[in-house]
Amino acid sequence: MLEVRNLSVSYGKHRALGGASLRVGKGEIVVILGANGAGKSTLLKAVCGICEGYVAGDVQLENAQLVGEKPHKIVEAGIALVPEGRGVFGDLTVEENLTLGAYAERARDEAAGNLQRVLSLFPKLGERRKQTVRTMSGGEQQMVAIGRAMMSNPSILALDEPSLGLSPLLCKDLFESLRVVKQAGLGILLVEQNAKQSLRIADRGYLLENGNIVHEDDAERLANDPAVQKAYLGGSGAATGARRPAPAATPTPAIPRPATGPKPNEIAAAAMKSVGAPARPVPVIKPTAPAPKPAPVANGTAAVQKLDTPDISDLVAKASATASRRNGATPPPRAPTTQPAPTQPTRSAQPAIPDFASSSDRLRSMIEDIEAAARRAETYKPRR
Ligand code: ATP
Repeated sequence: MLEVRNLSVSYGKHRALGGASLRVGKGEIVVILGANGAGKSTLLKAVCGICEGYVAGDVQLENAQLVGEKPHKIVEAGIALVPEGRGVFGDLTVEENLTLGAYAERARDEAAGNLQRVLSLFPKLGERRKQTVRTMSGGEQQMVAIGRAMMSNPSILALDEPSLGLSPLLCKDLFESLRVVKQAGLGILLVEQNAKQSLRIADRGYLLENGNIVHEDDAERLANDPAVQKAYLGGSGAATGARRPAPAATPTPAIPRPATGPKPNEIAAAAMKSVGAPARPVPVIKPTAPAPKPAPVANGTAAVQKLDTPDISDLVAKASATASRRNGATPPPRAPTTQPAPTQPTRSAQPAIPDFASSSDRLRSMIEDIEAAARRAETYKPRR
């Protein structure tokens, strides 16, 4: 179904991927194992059309040739990526994040149906539909990221190190949820350093070393192969997903990664432009209503009510504005309103000095401080 042939990637003079070939069938989990810097993310990004390097070779899904296509065209063709670090919108609810995933044309008309499908695959998300994502655990957020990717109705789900940063217990839940996705008939291309657990759920695996696929076999044989055990399953570190030491340096040094890229609001604006959706003014965010009681569960499946899905363009604008605020950019102007002032204050009318009356306010403020510190750390340059 997905056929990758002789795919190579160069970043300047550094060849990060040297002619990789692999395939992923319907309802099959295929894992790519490799040490730090082996080229795993590069391979996944090249397949999904978001690689910064020079890409050559063939990526074929059904009969469509995808190398050189824009990322949104690749999503339209049926490949959805869950990026490393998840990329969920913390200020939006579970349902809003999921609905954003239906932005692709192939899924837009069936957003409500897809939402029901995702919620019945992951009943936990149904129970948390109205929860703000930043208040969820890492494992739950990862489930939101997977659910959101599935909202584009893909035939291939590509995941970049989804277990990174999760506790062993949450890892177990995560890998179980990938089994559920596989049972729904999707092909899964999984990049992982947690070799032990990923080989347990995978059908086949490829070993990537210094940008080259050096071995392919079915997952069970790989797990029992003494060489694989020594390289990828040895010691408690590998079993818990800890990173292995980097491989020997390649002959050509890698050029430094670009320090800055487009801002999230620019990416959202470009995405809206590329799919021809009319730009909309940023909606005024109303105070969040209290979360409803969890939906009743019947026969292990969430009893999904008729869903009133939010407007996707509004959500993109809202997500973009949230990202802009977090990046310190000026948000787009709000639409003038002729309506009388609301009796309930909107979030935009919050006082400059935060009211720490509730624990969620304190939590939000702490998270913002941590994010600000992380941004400072990213741009920190030591004095010589
Ligand atoms: P990790 O497990 O640490 O994420 P990986 O196997 O995913 O590693 P890649 O991120 O694909 O490895 O990187 C492969 C090589 O390409 C590395 O040497 C890396 O430094 C280089 N590289 C990756 N992205 C870029 C970039 N944008 N510009 C320059 N070099 C890059």
